[in-house]
Amino acid sequence: MALPTNQQVKRAMVDYARRQRPPIKVGPGLNAGSNKWGPAARTLAWRITRRVKDVKTTTRKTPELCRLVGFKVVPIIIEHDWKWNGSLGKRAGNPPFIVVHNQAGTGPPEAIHAYHKSLGWLGIAYHYVVRLDGSVHRGRPEWAMGGHTAHYGNTIGVMFEGNYDLRRTMPRPQREAGLALIADLKRRYKVPVRGHREMPLNYTSCPGKHFPLAAMKGV
Ligand SMILES: [Zn+2]
Repeated sequence: MALPTNQQVKRAMVDYARRQRPPIKVGPGLNAGSNKWGPAARTLAWRITRRVKDVKTTTRKTPELCRLVGFKVVPIIIEHDWKWNGSLGKRAGNPPFIVVHNQAGTGPPEAIHAYHKSLGWLGIAYHYVVRLDGSVHRGRPEWAMGGHTAHYGNTIGVMFEGNYDLRRTMPRPQREAGLALIADLKRRYKVPVRGHREMPLNYTSCPGKHFPLAAMKGV
């Protein structure tokens, strides 16, 4: 992830304060208790002072904080040299949705690619795989049609490792990486997020009842 420095986070806080009407005067350091801060800034300052002693350490751990201060957090994508079973189809125009899935199991993207090929498909059906450890892998290129949602091959498919019908909470690295990836996709395509089960004519529980769907939609 491209994370800001301590100095950049502080500057963003100061910019935020200046943008308020009337502007908030900011002295050296942030006082979380000051009622001159609006509720959003107060929450942010509270989070910074409460969770961390050093902002730099915090932002490394919590890209969420970067989003709060308005930084673009772009996840590092791990590229794979996939060999496809034929040519990928090109999507015509903008994708209508970003569709999130769960794997309903665990395992590396290589295994998914091999499995999807064994089904007679072109190869891994998703555009992105977000693993439990927070690593983000490219499946199909974004320009290509997906194979992850029936009747909606023109959507961008993001798959999360794990079975979220059984697994109650998403590990923090996976959640943060997923939020950063989806925030980046939403910024670029300006389309909403849907759970696989919400797509018409797709009869599935995917991405699982414990999947943090509201968080992914709201990022
Ligand atoms: Zn699915």
